Amino acid sequence: MSLLLPTSLDEAVGMLGEHPDALILAGGTDLMVEINDGHRRPDDVVVAVNRVPELRSWRHDPAAATLTIGAAITYTELLSDPLATFSPALAEASRTVGSPQIRNAGTLAGNLGTCSPAGDALPVLAALDATVTLASAAGVRTMPVREFMTGVKRTAIEPGELIVEITVPTARGWQGYAKVGVRNAMVIAVATACLVVDEADQRVALALGSVGPTIIRCEEAETQLGGALDWATMTGTADDLTTFGRLAAAAARPITDHRSSAEYRRHAVGVLATRLAGRAVAAGRRSPVGA
Ligand SMILES: Cc1cc2nc3c(=O)[nH]c(=O)nc-3n(C[C@H](O)[C@H](O)[C@H](O)COP(=O)(O)OP(=O)(O)OC[C@H]3O[C@@H](n4cnc5c(N)ncnc54)[C@H](O)[C@@H]3O)c2cc1C
Repeated sequence: MSLLLPTSLDEAVGMLGEHPDALILAGGTDLMVEINDGHRRPDDVVVAVNRVPELRSWRHDPAAATLTIGAAITYTELLSDPLATFSPALAEASRTVGSPQIRNAGTLAGNLGTCSPAGDALPVLAALDATVTLASAAGVRTMPVREFMTGVKRTAIEPGELIVEITVPTARGWQGYAKVGVRNAMVIAVATACLVVDEADQRVALALGSVGPTIIRCEEAETQLGGALDWATMTGTADDLTTFGRLAAAAARPITDHRSSAEYRRHAVGVLATRLAGRAVAAGRRSPVGA
């Protein structure tokens, strides 16, 4: 096995052009487990991308109201300021990932590259309508993250391509993430939800994790809550929030596995959606729109 250590994006892209089937290694918190368990074989070439400066940087564009996060930015960076202020739900999800060691090594692109339905960053990226930028010797392309995630541990990435960066809108209202697992820390999710409130456009976005083959957006629930909220006072009735949770549960496509039954997952995700909506309304009352 050869381990290649590019120190620039051009060099990384060149190496992947020469070795399109090379394994890309970032923090290694998923990949090394798979190699150690014999599920993946490093074959000839591994390209380690976490020393590439372009992938280790981020930028905020105030005019476009976007945050662009390099592929090799870690959870520890995402949950700390200034990134946590620009993208609070991503910070909240990052806090729930693994242990400090995993959060120091694990990256956003690694979560996307693995594309587990339980990946904690993924519902946040889906709710934010994030885009992912990929590079290869053939050029650069950008696609919605929801098109990038094609199924259980399946993505739209092509051989020879790598994730360069992920772009999300900066917060324009309350956003939050909630997770249910079999214990409180170091846990793979049984059900997750991310709610993003866009006060400027008066709409909400809800994405669910661990309750389907990939992340699920809940359009019916989003339309219901967006229409039910009083945006001037940021209030909603208890019935509105309960209906939102019920529509979220109806959108789930859970399975029964060793972590949970499908029935529990569907129930849990409905509870998470209602709680998130309750938190959004409570936060909105503390700082009403335009205040
Ligand atoms: C003990 C433990 C606890 C964990 N807890 C959680 C948890 O609570 N929540 C959670 O979501 N995950 C958890 N994980 C899984 C893992 O930490 C995350 O999925 C993490 O985001 C993976 O990032 P990484 O940088 O380590 O990726 P790697 O392991 O380096 O790579 C993962 C995949 O992404 C690909 N990849 C990486 N970077 C790129 C790139 N730039 N372009 C293209 N492909 C790329 C790799 O080829 C590989 O297929 C845990 C893992 C362990 C070992």
